[in-house]
Amino acid sequence: MDWKNDYRLANLEEKLEDGSVRCHLSPRKCRIKEGEVGFCGVRGNRDGRLVTYTFGKGVHITEEVIETEAIFHYAPGSRILSLGNIGCNLNCHYCQNWKTSQYKFVENKDVHEMTPQGIVDMALRHNIGTLSWTYNDPVVWHEFVIETAKLARKAGLTNLYKSACFITKEALHELLPHIDIFSLSLKSMDETYYRKLTTGWLQPVLEAAKQIYDAGKHLEISNLMITDISDNEESALRIAKWILKDLGPEVPLHLVRFHPEYRMQNTIRTPIDRLQKARAVAQKEGLKYVYLGNVPDENDASSFCGNCQEPLVKRFGLDAKIKALDSEGRCNACGENSHFNLGNKLPSKPDTINTLTPDGLKTSSYNWRGDIISVHVQAKNTGDTPATIFYRPQSNGQPNWKTVTLEAQESYRFILTKSQPSEIGLEIAWAPSIESNLYEVFDRAHFPTVPIAEGIAEDDRVALPKFEGKQFPDRMKSKLAKALS
Ligand code: SF4
Repeated sequence: MDWKNDYRLANLEEKLEDGSVRCHLSPRKCRIKEGEVGFCGVRGNRDGRLVTYTFGKGVHITEEVIETEAIFHYAPGSRILSLGNIGCNLNCHYCQNWKTSQYKFVENKDVHEMTPQGIVDMALRHNIGTLSWTYNDPVVWHEFVIETAKLARKAGLTNLYKSACFITKEALHELLPHIDIFSLSLKSMDETYYRKLTTGWLQPVLEAAKQIYDAGKHLEISNLMITDISDNEESALRIAKWILKDLGPEVPLHLVRFHPEYRMQNTIRTPIDRLQKARAVAQKEGLKYVYLGNVPDENDASSFCGNCQEPLVKRFGLDAKIKALDSEGRCNACGENSHFNLGNKLPSKPDTINTLTPDGLKTSSYNWRGDIISVHVQAKNTGDTPATIFYRPQSNGQPNWKTVTLEAQESYRFILTKSQPSEIGLEIAWAPSIESNLYEVFDRAHFPTVPIAEGIAEDDRVALPKFEGKQFPDRMKSKLAKALS
């Protein structure tokens, strides 16, 4: 399937007199001539009309958990169906999904066709309550997001939107009624940072956050702290001050550890002590909930009652367990409002069995290595009857096997993740009719495209495929760090 072959009319079009069109979806407002595409590469001008090339086309649909999206205060531990498309209206030098977010690197093998009804049916079949629009950036998938989100709502599902929110007011106005939860990735509070590292600019993002907050939506903010550029207390302080001024102290902030990627490979992951110092500053300023992301440590990611310090939700990596919240999201011990929304469904648990008869099953295992503590399992049932995949952690004792059952001919992808420090890896077994690949997930919301069978990154620092082009020059990095200090 060549994703560029078909298209349909897009929203937010302005026709211009010379036959070109202007796109009002993102603040770039690209003016696009006949036969050309805008900056994102997935919206263009055909016969004088603004079109989208990606309606119903995206990367493989994937079951994950809501913590993957830097959402900690909405239905902790619940499963989501993650939907990522291709293209992006930004081009961040450190993008961890550059292989699918930058249209010129997209390969047809990574693009799958889908329909709104098919997505809703898949969520219901697997007992998942939330659709998550994520990975590259859902802004450039606008029409498909809205059409599917409407259908999902009717079926009782909620919609989560994880985005840099570089979007116009009018586009957000179209989107807002259909989305329940926003995870906004704020790159920085600095205009120079935005211009030099993301190709976007700051003001529309701040305005979008305010528009979302004022509409009463569930909102959490995350900030990727780039090593030696923005992993400092001053950066966290500026973000905290803005949240307190324009939003509210109850809005959770996630300070996220970065892994080297794309044009920023020649560096290290963000040192954890810098993240911890940044967190302390944001808390001292008055934010109630500040978490570290991509740091698998209970203290940095768990939620505690602000009044009596009772542990409310314990987290390790992407695993979350509710400990002391009532149905209204209040602390069970003292009744303090801890600003949790538990959603309309309790997290559903996968089916489990005690013992497995391995006869006829194919088996495999994976050992966690360094900072890689999640994998995607992509599986296709080639048979004409339902077939099951079994998995369990490798740890002390004999934990129960959990199961995922696929319909005849169904293709499915789901995340498995380390849920406590003692686990060393995974065991997986599947029916003979299932063809399966594993993909190493470097950090949350990373969509890997190279299966382990085709190659393994040399360490846990830069994911495959490695970008072979020019790197962001060190002298520019120092200059930028200086300008930001
Ligand atoms: S969505 Fe794409 S075409 Fe439209 S303004 Fe943004 S970058 Fe340009």
